Amino acid sequence: MRVTVVGGGIAGLCCAHRLAEAGHRVTVRTAGKPGESTSAVAGGLIYPPMETGDGRVARWTAVGLEVYRNSPAAPGIRFRPGSITFAEDRPGPPWLSAMTDVTREGGRLGFTTALVDMPVYLGWLAEQVAALGVRTEYAGVASLASLAEGDADVVVNAAGLAGGTLAGDDALVPVRGQVVHLADPGLTSWTVAEEDDELTYVFPHGRHVVCGGTEEIGRGDLDPDPAAASAIVRRCRALVPELAEAPVLGTRVGLRPGRPSVRLERVGNVVHDYGHGGAGVTLAWGCAEDVVGLL
Ligand SMILES: Cc1cc2nc3c(=O)[nH]c(=O)nc-3n(C[C@H](O)[C@H](O)[C@H](O)COP(=O)(O)OP(=O)(O)OC[C@H]3O[C@@H](n4cnc5c(N)ncnc54)[C@H](O)[C@@H]3O)c2cc1C
Repeated sequence: MRVTVVGGGIAGLCCAHRLAEAGHRVTVRTAGKPGESTSAVAGGLIYPPMETGDGRVARWTAVGLEVYRNSPAAPGIRFRPGSITFAEDRPGPPWLSAMTDVTREGGRLGFTTALVDMPVYLGWLAEQVAALGVRTEYAGVASLASLAEGDADVVVNAAGLAGGTLAGDDALVPVRGQVVHLADPGLTSWTVAEEDDELTYVFPHGRHVVCGGTEEIGRGDLDPDPAAASAIVRRCRALVPELAEAPVLGTRVGLRPGRPSVRLERVGNVVHDYGHGGAGVTLAWGCAEDVVGLL
């Protein structure tokens, strides 16, 4: 089948990869390069948000972990132990079944998972997709219907936040996230702390540490906020004292495609795969498997 995948972030590239492997003739249409996507801003920790009632998330997370674990040639992937601290009386999330070596002491949950250095990994993944024969066209798409009526037998809508606009779905909202990169002093574990609705995280990637973060629902601009950046650095240095002297390398802003749940369904000859919120890196490979199944 001739398939056009709209979007060149993590969701689009994973779909293109799996569809080409399954024997489809795939074209990626993307407004921007992978390195310019929200996916390139992500901290890259493989874990979904704590609160999710979506039964598909544990399965998608398990698929993602398996793919990252079995990609020895892929650059930018490190499996590291780490911990999440949250309110003691909260139950553990249902997706914990996807993790091995889970420990819990009060409100501290520990496990080993993958950290993915996203700009590095996306660059490599784009090369893998090209090597599978996928053609990439750098041009924005104004209408899914026009693609579906043109050269493509099936169109996959993996355009992240723009996926909602293309699908006429007003359930999608930007959830703005800012992170600060610090030089990595040699950290060997990741740390997440949820406190008073504030999420602080420290994800080491070797040369740099992604420190976060912010979650501003409904805010859709990409201008870095210096006050937010200072607050992130202060919170992360308090959480991980080894960062006290680590130089600040820069700040990045991205717009998570926020939706009450991921949209993964086929409507006619369009398959929607968007709305991954703060977990697209975690869920993309699992979702791509389902997309192939829907063809
Ligand atoms: C600060 C921050 C930290 C995060 N940390 C994590 C984390 O630790 N773990 C995790 O799992 N997730 C994390 N996320 C979430 C993750 O980044 C997103 O869920 C994921 O990037 C969504 O991927 P996507 O491919 O759907 O969208 P995007 O990466 O936004 O890609 C969309 C693609 O569509 C293209 N496009 C847009 N409009 C059009 C159009 N009209 N025509 C053609 N192409 C178009 C764009 O150019 C782009 O290539 C984080 C996000 C942020 C902002």
